[in-house]
Amino acid sequence: MDFSRMTRAELSALLAELREQYAAYQNKKLSLDLSRGKPGAKQLDLLQGMLDCISSSSDCRTMDGFDCRNYGLLDGIKGAKIMFSELLGIREDELFIGGNSSLNLMYDAVARAMLYGVCDSERPWCREEEIKFICPAPGYDRHFEICRSLGIEMITVEMTRTGPDMDAVEALCSNDPSIKGIWCCPKYSNPDGITYSDKTVRRFANLKPAAKDFRIFWDNAYAIHDLYPDKHDELLDIFKEAEKVGNEDMIFFYSSTSKISFPGSGVAIFAASENNLKQIKPIM
Ligand code: PLP
Repeated sequence: MDFSRMTRAELSALLAELREQYAAYQNKKLSLDLSRGKPGAKQLDLLQGMLDCISSSSDCRTMDGFDCRNYGLLDGIKGAKIMFSELLGIREDELFIGGNSSLNLMYDAVARAMLYGVCDSERPWCREEEIKFICPAPGYDRHFEICRSLGIEMITVEMTRTGPDMDAVEALCSNDPSIKGIWCCPKYSNPDGITYSDKTVRRFANLKPAAKDFRIFWDNAYAIHDLYPDKHDELLDIFKEAEKVGNEDMIFFYSSTSKISFPGSGVAIFAASENNLKQIKPIM
C-alpha cells in the first residue's frame, strides 16, 4: 500500500477502518506478555529440584575453603570460575563472576566508562563532547535502552545473515573517534537467531577504531544454547582472534545462566583482558 499515492478521502476511509480494527483488539481486553527471552513456566519447572540442593546443614565452603556465607572474593569463587572457564573457553584469570544479571554488568560497564573511562581512555566518556555506539538492528532492545538512559547516540547498522554489516561497522568506527562501542549478540542473536560467521568474528577482532578506547560489547547470552546435539552453530573465539593482533583490550565479554537455570536467580559473568580488569576491579 503506497500512502503517498492515496487521496485524502481514501486516507480518511483507511484511517477509520484501522481505528475500528484497533478498537476491536482493545475490546478483547487481552493481557499478553510479549517480553522476549522469557522462559515459560514449564521450562522453569524442569529446574525445580535445584531449589532443594542446599539446606541449612549444607557445607557452605568452597573447594579451597572459603566460607561463602561471608563477604569477600570480589571476582567470584574458584568453582564458578572453573565452571565458566570450561563452558565458555575463557581463561579463569580473565573471568569476573558477577551477580544475577549480565545486563546489569553491561549497564555498570557503560556507566563506569562514563564516570572513569576505560583502561585506555584519556578522560571519562562523560567529558567527551559526544559519545556514540553502533547498534546492529534488529537487536536487543535493552542494549539500546542502556545507551538511551546514558545519553549515548545510537547509530544503526543492518544485520545480515552472517552478522552486522561489517563494511558499515569498519567504515564508521575507523573514521569517527566519538564512536566508543558496539553491541553484539554473536550467537543465536536476539531477536533473529543469527550466529556471526568466522569472517565476521575475525573482522571484529581486527577492527582499527579511531577511538583507542573503543569497546566491543560481546554479549554471548546464548553461548551454549544449542537445541540439537547434531546440529548447532559454532562461534569463533573472539578473544583468541583478538589476541593474535594485540586487540584483546577491545573486548568486553558477557554471559549468564539466565536461560539455563532460573533467570531470577542465575549467575552472570564478565570477561576481559588483564589490562581492563586491572582498571575495573579497584573501582568495583
Ligand atoms: N542479553 C541478551 C541478548 C538477552 O536476550 C538477554 C535476555 O533476554 C539478556 C542479555 C539478559 O541476561 P541476564 O538475565 O543475564 O541479565
